[in-house]
Amino acid sequence: MMPELPEVEALAGYLRERAVGRRVDRVEVAAISALKTYDPVPSAVAGRTVVDAGRHGKFLDVIFDGGLHLVVHLARAGWLHYREAFPSTAPLRPGKGPIALRVRLDDGSGFDLTEAGTQKKLAAYLVTDPAQVPGVAKLGPDALRADLATFAERLRSRRGQVKGVLTDQSVLAGVGNAYSDEILHAAKLSPFAITDRLTDDQLATLHAATRTVLGDAVGRSMGQRAAELKGEKRSGLKVHARAGLPCPVCGDTVREVSFADSSLQYCPTCQTGGKPLADRRLSRLVR
Ligand SMILES: [Zn+2]
Repeated sequence: MMPELPEVEALAGYLRERAVGRRVDRVEVAAISALKTYDPVPSAVAGRTVVDAGRHGKFLDVIFDGGLHLVVHLARAGWLHYREAFPSTAPLRPGKGPIALRVRLDDGSGFDLTEAGTQKKLAAYLVTDPAQVPGVAKLGPDALRADLATFAERLRSRRGQVKGVLTDQSVLAGVGNAYSDEILHAAKLSPFAITDRLTDDQLATLHAATRTVLGDAVGRSMGQRAAELKGEKRSGLKVHARAGLPCPVCGDTVREVSFADSSLQYCPTCQTGGKPLADRRLSRLVR
């Protein structure tokens, strides 16, 4: 499952706890394609101290003294692994392994940015201003921090199915496929509801659901070890990735709609007046 706002927030929190105050020994890039910038060079980070860690939507931001930022988009299969120690001091060799980038700190600890699978989408940027990262520059307001007026204005600014609009990072930043399923379930809204037809009440409910679902997930994630975060995410979900299982709210069976490279899950009783949504992939097969 792709890391979304709560997981990235927790990773930033974890780095603030573990890495802030430590000086960087060196940065090793094993997957050349993962590093999207070439100036400043990775060696420019050596000798600098980690001063903070933060988040822009689903982007993680590791901040070094002198105003240098390592901004990372973990993509679908990326993760950050904090190491108390590394097995070897030998530099990583560029190759096919899951490690894209390694940051070694002065106490022997550090972290690896890894990506499983063959589709390499993890993107790291070394910049002096996070706004230099194209994906960060176009982010809408943060989904967890937007007040109701901003939230409603953003949602109505884009006409479309609410599931798609809620996950559009330029509308609101931080929500992806998993938490949008959870938010729509909590708000009792169909994923296919059209945004500009939502009433003020529905938008207020959706705003409250967004805050509750993301806030609860951040709360559950904080204090977890980075390695345990993914399991924690799965255990907190009510409909996402639970097709065929009972809805914990009403007991109806959670259903699924599949797309070319993704799927959504929802509860018919809670969200669509008991009616199953058309699964285009299935109806195409039937035809
Ligand atoms: Zn239900």
